[in-house]
Amino acid sequence: MEIRFEKREQLKEKPDWNNLGFGKYMTDYMFVCDWDREIGWHDARIVPEGPIELDPACMTLHYAQETFEGMKAYRREDGKIQLFRPEMNAKRMINSNERLCMPAFPVEDFVAAVKALVKTEQDWVPSQKDTSLYIRPFMFATEAALGVHMAKSYKFMILCCPVGAYYATGLDPVKILVENELVRAVAGGTGFTKCGGNYAGSIAGQVKAEKLGYSQVLWLDGNERKYVEEVGTMNIMFKIDGEIWTAPTVGTVLPGVTRDSMIHLLRDWGYNVREERLAIDDLMKAGHEGKLEEVFGTGTAAVISPVGELRFKDDVVVINGGKTGELTQKLYDTLTGIQWGRLEDKYGWTT
Ligand code: PMP
Repeated sequence: MEIRFEKREQLKEKPDWNNLGFGKYMTDYMFVCDWDREIGWHDARIVPEGPIELDPACMTLHYAQETFEGMKAYRREDGKIQLFRPEMNAKRMINSNERLCMPAFPVEDFVAAVKALVKTEQDWVPSQKDTSLYIRPFMFATEAALGVHMAKSYKFMILCCPVGAYYATGLDPVKILVENELVRAVAGGTGFTKCGGNYAGSIAGQVKAEKLGYSQVLWLDGNERKYVEEVGTMNIMFKIDGEIWTAPTVGTVLPGVTRDSMIHLLRDWGYNVREERLAIDDLMKAGHEGKLEEVFGTGTAAVISPVGELRFKDDVVVINGGKTGELTQKLYDTLTGIQWGRLEDKYGWTT
């Protein structure tokens, strides 16, 4: 894939590196590539970041044929920049696209495009502790026509934005509400994909949780509302009686890159990891019997998010006295150590 470069006349002012927040400051450039039915992918380019023009009949605006990814570039202490398992994001996007009848952007081209853009934007990769450059690849239908069908044309784009440390003052346990009415995904649906529609449908649950003083939603399976699946933008794991439980990725749960990496680490450390369905009733029962030792969410943004409290209907369980568990902390230290290049990467995950 050849990538053409279009220079920006005036570079943007860099933000305050100590006050980045999340997803606020887009960098100077973006990657764009077009697809149409006749010639496939063409005109890969890195161009100045900015608004794009869309016909109001653009199919994405009506039928939400859109998929995306989320990953990061990390600044190591020696100044070099590294990516973490980028080919997993590339493959996951292909799986998402297949389900939504969208074209595949080849894995090698995906990784090459990410590397080229990050290289162009290397001055935007922050070096403050636990900061990174968030990378957002996404694809959407561009055909201007009403009517639900596969589009004749698509755009694949990548944006970047420097993001701050998720936990400025150490890991901070969150309170989670188990949603017992609304559902996120059903068997045969799009739960395993990273498509915009999944997130649009989840906002009502998030609003409901926040009103009750909870920061995240834990979704139950959409068919029986019986088994725990995942959190807003994280997979979730439970340490019960020394074993680790997490929902299997069988169609309704997003196969997280962080989830997969944690499972590798845990199995390496001798833990029995059970990728099995776990009923919410059994989870709450384990909590009341004192067997629920640790609970944590896993995802690219926060890496790991300790859970201090779970509420299901009127039943509340406090985990580990509301404090971060030992295993949670060890997983966080190890994975962030590899991602930021502080620890040896014996798994070959970084590039
Ligand atoms: N589940 C959902 C619904 C998500 O949006 C994310 C974030 N991509 C995850 C899980 C975690 O995935 P990853 O570890 O690849 O970031």
